Amino acid sequence: MKRLEKNMKLKQTPQRLAIINFLENNKNHPTVEDIYRAIIEQFPTISLATVYKNIETLKNLGMIREITIDPEKKHFDPNTLTHHHLICTECKRIVDINIDFEIKLPDNFISDFEITGNHIEFYGICSLCKNSKVVKNGI
Ligand SMILES: [Zn+2]
Ligand SMILES: [Zn+2]
Repeated sequence: MKRLEKNMKLKQTPQRLAIINFLENNKNHPTVEDIYRAIIEQFPTISLATVYKNIETLKNLGMIREITIDPEKKHFDPNTLTHHHLICTECKRIVDINIDFEIKLPDNFISDFEITGNHIEFYGICSLCKNSKVVKNGI
C-alpha cells in the first residue's frame, strides 16, 4: 500500500488515515466489521457506514483488494499484487499463498481477452479447527 500516502487526489480525513494505517501490512484479510472494531477505539463516534464508504473508496482506487473467498463476508487485502488465498471453512481464517502457479489459458481465450490477473481459492480446515473437532467428538 505504498501508493496510498502519495495519492493526493484522495481527501485525507483522520478517520480514513486511521483505516489506511490499520490496513497497511495487515495480513489478516479483515472484514469491514473487523476494521470498524479497530477504528472505533480511536474514533468512538465513527459509524459502520463511514467505514464502509471509506473501504469502497480505497477499493475503487485500487489501493486494496476485495476477497470474496468467504461466502458470508467480504474481506479486504492491502496486498494488491497477484497472490492466492487459502481459507479455513470452519473459522474463516484466510492465509496468503505467494506462489506463481503459471496458469495458462488456451489460445482462444487469449485472442478474445487481454488477461489481467488470476486468483485461486483453496479451501480446507486449519489445524486449530481440526484439533477442536477431535476434542468435541471425544475421539
Ligand atoms: Zn480454522
Ligand atoms: Zn491476501
